[in-house]
Amino acid sequence: MRQYYSKSKKSIPGLNETDLMKRIVYNTSRSGSFSTFEKWFDDKDRLKKDDICDCANGGMKIDWATYGNKSRGRDYRWFLERSHDHDGNTRDGINYLGSYRRMSSPGIITIYIDNIQVFFWSIICELACNQKYVFTREKIEELAMLCINKTLYHELFHHFIDAQSYVVNGYVYNYYTDEALAVACSRLLVGYETKNNHTYISEFLELAYSYTSPGYSDWVNYKSEEQFLLKLIEYMPLNPSLGIMGQELSPICEGMLYSIIENPNVEIQVA
Ligand SMILES: [Zn+2]
Repeated sequence: MRQYYSKSKKSIPGLNETDLMKRIVYNTSRSGSFSTFEKWFDDKDRLKKDDICDCANGGMKIDWATYGNKSRGRDYRWFLERSHDHDGNTRDGINYLGSYRRMSSPGIITIYIDNIQVFFWSIICELACNQKYVFTREKIEELAMLCINKTLYHELFHHFIDAQSYVVNGYVYNYYTDEALAVACSRLLVGYETKNNHTYISEFLELAYSYTSPGYSDWVNYKSEEQFLLKLIEYMPLNPSLGIMGQELSPICEGMLYSIIENPNVEIQVA
């Protein structure tokens, strides 16, 4: 597998990564007179963690509502655990970072920006407090971009499954497999966006992907490209007879994945 072709993002209606990043990092573009986060950084562009992070008790010192953020979450862990009924349906969408609505015309990917903002900053505070990292604007912006891509790639995987189910015969939806593979796909693609192996990036991603909810948490079984593609071939499903005759299935699966997620029939909405 390889990095997502960045030009593809430019053709997705409603997607503006830089704008989303600034909303998360600086609290810009809010309607109403809410403060930005400019004061959270000192004159050397370093995060003033003692002003915003509650290092003694964990969490953050700030009141999100005063910044116009309506999320009910306060801790990234809350977003990574979901409650389900016996059919595997989520009871409510309050802790969504993103969602995908199947194609009737285009598929709709919704980015829940308030939730992502709280999710993001609670991880930053945990790292800043525990690991004593000095976060600069540059690092914070870089991590926020990864955080947006994390959700984008997850939802694009759901779009891939939606589209490929029109191409391949015999697809049967399985909530748990669907989510596990969506998380694995997101983590693999986000991995290609990180040019280096800095500890603050790997530790950020470690927390950002520490899912505990059923299905989602199984992504660790499909961490490697090989594990991911093997499970995806089985899930789509690609006809195994082709493999038995000697035709390799992984390149077909991979090719289909990129051909759809890099030419997606989706629109982005920000909620
Ligand atoms: Zn999902």
